[in-house]
Amino acid sequence: MIATDQAAVRPVRTSEAASMMSGSASPVPAGSVPLARLVDAELEVPVLGGRAVRHVNLDVAASAPAFTVVAEQVARVLPYYASVHRGTGYPSQQTTALVEGARATVARHVGARDDDLVVFTRNTTDALNLLASAVPGDTVVLDLEHHANLLPWRDGARRVVVAQPTIAETLDALDAELARCPAALLTVTGASNVTGEVLPIDRLARLAHAHGARIAVDAAQLLPHRRVSLEASDLDYLAFSGHKAYAPFGAGAFVGRADWLDAAPAHLAGGGAVETVRLDRVEWKHGAARHEAGTPNVVGIVAIARALAEFERLGEAARDSHEQALTDRLHAGLGAQRGIRVVHGFEDADDRLGIATIELERGSVGLLAAALGAEHGISVRAGRFCAHPFFDRVAGRANGLRASLGAGSTTDDVDRFLTALAKLVSDGPAHAYDRGPEGWHPLVDDRPRPEFAF
Ligand code: PMP
Repeated sequence: MIATDQAAVRPVRTSEAASMMSGSASPVPAGSVPLARLVDAELEVPVLGGRAVRHVNLDVAASAPAFTVVAEQVARVLPYYASVHRGTGYPSQQTTALVEGARATVARHVGARDDDLVVFTRNTTDALNLLASAVPGDTVVLDLEHHANLLPWRDGARRVVVAQPTIAETLDALDAELARCPAALLTVTGASNVTGEVLPIDRLARLAHAHGARIAVDAAQLLPHRRVSLEASDLDYLAFSGHKAYAPFGAGAFVGRADWLDAAPAHLAGGGAVETVRLDRVEWKHGAARHEAGTPNVVGIVAIARALAEFERLGEAARDSHEQALTDRLHAGLGAQRGIRVVHGFEDADDRLGIATIELERGSVGLLAAALGAEHGISVRAGRFCAHPFFDRVAGRANGLRASLGAGSTTDDVDRFLTALAKLVSDGPAHAYDRGPEGWHPLVDDRPRPEFAF
């Protein structure tokens, strides 16, 4: 159910209520209450043995629940939903205005220059595939990329640089590669989805431009946690997904310079991307429309715009201190935990998002992740996180377990995870598990399905 009460935007926890009642001005410690209200704030999940517990969601780097204001906005606009750009009726005109308004919101939020394009896509993967079809030359990438920023680049035109033990040495390696042979594009993730380590995109932009290359940033992980600006960081392109930015309705965006995009083949061929069509000749549009054939995901686009507006309302300082407090707590706890190792890419990374990937000295992280879910109601992720080359290089084991946090997370979430992890590492799961094609699962699973399941 969608809450509409504005006062409910930030739930008041016991400690906060106590300090309010006592009139004490002491601020609530950073991270002790959610920064923003998410739709899953009150979610309870069943655990083995017939109980239900408050869900702890430490898998937000994979996909984040919607901000409540995003879900409310979607519910508010749905009655007006109608065809975009073509209809003459009032709802259709409002729908068109919403999409074009969202385009302006995205442009403003990411510091787009006046002549940059904002193309709505399905997600980051889609956005980077679009760019790959437009690059007029070689693309240089680091080996630490998510597959979405590793696989789209044309065979023979992709040059991979292995990231070095330090960020400084990695910049040197990129510098040497771009000096050795010119490239059209350097494309980097803003932050590793495995380690959370943030890359210095301003310095990377200067480096690329010094060699006559453009730079694209895969901001799938970065944008939900840090303000990113094309103009301020002098980036040429930026890609991100709504579903990691608390707008999980199936849209993403690609923003950046128009010339390559205007010269590229249409991302999808079809209605809306063309000026005129004759059976023997097609005149393709320029601008975002060239790559947005077919009916767009209006709901997803509206959701993205509302989420970005919410980031602005929350403010960077509040987001930073909330997530930093939780990240520090998570890493301090993991540092004290025996029997595990935290995976790092760089020795000198001084900024990281609320992501930690661990390896077990003994035992299976897949089983550990399954038990965290089934016995403790805690969601994490096990695997290689669609970054196989990087994971295989930096990790000692075949798979890792990733915990990731965000605006809806609290110190209580982090503590529940650390407590459950310690118990599982020392005692093992309390129930029996089996390993099937989908991974580990309880041998006897008595958790009821929700009533909407079919
Ligand atoms: N890049 C990074 C750094 C990611 O973490 C992800 C998602 N795990 C992607 C790209 C791909 O995002 P999407 O699935 O939304 O296309």
